[in-house]
Amino acid sequence: MIVRIAPDARPSEEEAIRLRLEEAFAEARLLSLPFGRFAVGLSPRPGVPPPPLDLPGVLSVFAPREGEGLVSREAAPGGTRVPLGPVEVGGPTLALVAGPCSVEGRDQIFPLARFLAACGATALRGGAFKPRTSPYAFQGLGREGLALLCEAGRRAGLPVVSEVMDPREVEAAEPYVDLFQVGARSMQNFPLLRTLAEAGKAVLLKRGASSTVQELLGAAEYLLAGGNGKVILCERGIKTFETATRNTLDLNAVALLKERTHLPVLVDPSHGTGRRELVLPLARAAVAAGADGLLLEVHPDPPRALSDGRQSLTVAEFRLLVEEVEAVAWAVGRHLHRPRAARPETVRPEPRASGWGA
Ligand code: PEP
Ligand code: MN
Repeated sequence: MIVRIAPDARPSEEEAIRLRLEEAFAEARLLSLPFGRFAVGLSPRPGVPPPPLDLPGVLSVFAPREGEGLVSREAAPGGTRVPLGPVEVGGPTLALVAGPCSVEGRDQIFPLARFLAACGATALRGGAFKPRTSPYAFQGLGREGLALLCEAGRRAGLPVVSEVMDPREVEAAEPYVDLFQVGARSMQNFPLLRTLAEAGKAVLLKRGASSTVQELLGAAEYLLAGGNGKVILCERGIKTFETATRNTLDLNAVALLKERTHLPVLVDPSHGTGRRELVLPLARAAVAAGADGLLLEVHPDPPRALSDGRQSLTVAEFRLLVEEVEAVAWAVGRHLHRPRAARPETVRPEPRASGWGA
């Protein structure tokens, strides 16, 4: 059960609402989210009916529908924006989160970070704790990788994005990471979601390869109901009968998510296709479908990458992609954040009025 609290409610009124919820729910919490204050009752006590909530300070009461409450578009009809370096993800500027699948060493990540920043990337991604199908495959550099990624990002002026799989690593990783990635395999790791909700830093939640949109939104609801409103969703391809590509990038989900939730949505055409040569066309399509940004794997020497080389762009391909995506962005009333020096000489028209309001 979710209660929207009136903006002028007094702390004592809020506490009375929380206590009322506690009569019927195992857990009742007050939440400060970017789109308002709420009280939530989590996990009903068996046999106890929902309590009456005709209390001072209550603006409205709504029951989550199929697990979707705080994530639903109705909760924040204007959309939520999540700050990431110079960009507010979910606003008119598209986020370009780029970097290698795995951080492999200083010589790889430092020059790459500088290059990506010069091309107009918004954030530097790189895996330090890698979820690999085989225990014999490279598992990432762990904390050492995180420290390298962080230093490379800081020097290049880019915020950093990295995955944590184990809730016990969250505290140690926090100083190094600006946006925590929850990987597809961890989407329903509820202890991890609860820990990240408590930690409070922004979270990039990737859709599980075999998860429905409803399951993705249910996972995001754990983060919001835990008090963390800085959540970005990511479509990264799902398993289908098709074997010609690694996954099938579900662009239906992008348009559907934009309708069902106020949270920003990124698209990862690298994992979504598994093939470098398909990344550019699907990146363009994602932006046209309404994505708020892209997650892209880029490697200085893809054939030698320790993970996901087949789907990693070369630096030249990344630079081209930025140009191509920028053209689509303008066509749909969006734009890229690009350092002035990296902008092409051509004079472009003002972006069309887009309804994003900036
Ligand atoms: C990744 O981003 O490198 C990754 C492992 O992604 P996913 O969880 O989507 O497979
Ligand atoms: Mn990868």
